[in-house]
Amino acid sequence: MTAMEADFVIVGSGSAGAALAYRLSEDGRNSVIVIEYGGTDFGPFIQMPAALSFPMNMSRYDWGFSSEPEPHLGGRRLVTPRGKVLGGSSSINGMVYVRGHAHDFDHWADEGAAGWAYADVLPYFKRMETAHGGEDGWRGTDGPLHVRPGKQRNPLYKAFVEAGRQAGFETTPDYNGSKQEGFGVMEQTIHHGRRWSVANAYLRPALKRQNVSLVNGFARRVVIENQRAVGVEFEARKQIQVVKAKREVIIAASSINSPKLLMLSGIGPAAHLKEHGIDVVADRQGVGRNLQDHMELYIQQESILPITLYSKLNLFSKALIGAEWLLFKSGLGATNHFESAAFVRSKPGVDYPDIQYHFLPAAIRYDGKAAAKSHGFQAHVGPMRSKSRGSVTLRSADPREKPAIRFNYMSHADDWADFRHCIRLTREIFGQQAFDPYRGREISPGKDVQSDDELDAFIREHAESAFHPCGTCRMGRADDEHSVVDPECRVIGVEGLRVADSSIFPRITNGNLNGPSVMTGEKAADHILGKQPLAPSNQEPWINPRWRVSDR
Ligand SMILES: Cc1cc2nc3c(=O)[nH]c(=O)nc-3n(C[C@H](O)[C@H](O)[C@H](O)COP(=O)(O)OP(=O)(O)OC[C@H]3O[C@@H](n4cnc5c(N)ncnc54)[C@H](O)[C@@H]3O)c2cc1C
Repeated sequence: MTAMEADFVIVGSGSAGAALAYRLSEDGRNSVIVIEYGGTDFGPFIQMPAALSFPMNMSRYDWGFSSEPEPHLGGRRLVTPRGKVLGGSSSINGMVYVRGHAHDFDHWADEGAAGWAYADVLPYFKRMETAHGGEDGWRGTDGPLHVRPGKQRNPLYKAFVEAGRQAGFETTPDYNGSKQEGFGVMEQTIHHGRRWSVANAYLRPALKRQNVSLVNGFARRVVIENQRAVGVEFEARKQIQVVKAKREVIIAASSINSPKLLMLSGIGPAAHLKEHGIDVVADRQGVGRNLQDHMELYIQQESILPITLYSKLNLFSKALIGAEWLLFKSGLGATNHFESAAFVRSKPGVDYPDIQYHFLPAAIRYDGKAAAKSHGFQAHVGPMRSKSRGSVTLRSADPREKPAIRFNYMSHADDWADFRHCIRLTREIFGQQAFDPYRGREISPGKDVQSDDELDAFIREHAESAFHPCGTCRMGRADDEHSVVDPECRVIGVEGLRVADSSIFPRITNGNLNGPSVMTGEKAADHILGKQPLAPSNQEPWINPRWRVSDR
């Protein structure tokens, strides 16, 4: 193998790209080059779990995208962080581990992603994991991705789960097992006290192999000759070069950069490409469309007992926590602090959860800004299946220019009713007996925010992205004009080119997206190698028998 030619060229070392690099090189028969623009993930900002709010705000590690002014959110531009570092977004994310609900994947298959139903993807979730805990028979035991339940040492974590039970909701011992629905302990991609990004789990082990190498560069476009991808043009040290693919090019550059790269390569809506003077290789209407995300609100309550992380936010405590983590990889530095969760249904007639909770024993924004000035706790809550859809489009044919991102958040009337319900439901849960020893005043939205109009104003001003954009290179039937890739992740209309990452999700899944993105890389690798997919599972997920008549 010469440095600039390989059987497989992968763009992106993120959640899907790293898994692809690992699996495509595993048997030693194929050479793999990974092109990654981001640099090293060395150092505590990334490796120390509790430092999670730093890398997403650092231009060194983040692409620095934000949305266009969002028309339904008072023209706010929302930040759209994406990892620009080894391990991609798995190196800057919140380390919450969720597979998604069984019905999400069944829906993918119904929408044309044949072979991606829950029975098909469950074996891949098992292959990728080593779960330290979880339900017997449902979890992986020897995969590269180590996941574990939160330790829940702070009593507020258990109070949250107990409050859910007192309100009449289900509890679940393992939302990544047979039963997603309910309140329970949250899982983390943390191992030996460190962020277990895909760089740690997959990329570094793959790079130890002779047949894998990493090229640090900025991919500009796929080189296509006679409708066949033959390489990738990239820029490194101010020089434009090409790395050749003997077999295939695989784009795993995220839901923002993958559609951008396709469009720069002439694959996308023809009229849009022509507008920017790009020669059309394949007219695919779906490229950049179908953008989806989760939004969330932080519902904050004061704690009258001084047991929250508020006492740890001063510099002295932070230094102690940092020192313990540096020396022993233990203590409060070794957790992301999201240690309780819930997946619930918003109303009778909804057959599987459509609301997710993250619970935190502190009142603070996700990005670390604007901590409350007192002891407090908070729930991050949001609907899981918004009907709003947005787009990623080019501003110009210049690869260096950031794309235009329009989420159209809250553009569907149901979004408003769903969010109002989320706020009222959280108040009901925080109002349970389990919180009696702790509950002080409501910090946010605050007790005066009650009517629909007041809640809507709060939502408009405070709803934030949960950082789960996806869907912009949708997978589906090859004869569906909205599909970008077929169920084997092949770009429709071009040979030798695949996309495999969160951009191919037909619809957003129930929970955080690192897990399903890694699974996508794992499964795509088998398709690329022409392997027989893993045998489908016959395990049946738990569905609430009361779903038609009750929300709990
Ligand atoms: C701040 C934040 C918090 C999150 N929290 C969680 C969480 O707690 N749990 C969870 O499950 N999910 C979380 N997510 C979401 C999850 O991490 C992502 O959905 C997932 O990592 C996406 O994987 P991907 O493979 O599609 O893309 P990515 O992991 O983003 O990988 C894309 C890679 O491609 C590289 N790349 C892109 N363009 C180019 C180019 N032109 N040239 C070279 N390289 C390029 C990028 O640098 C990057 O390394 C979070 C995301 C963010 C940003």
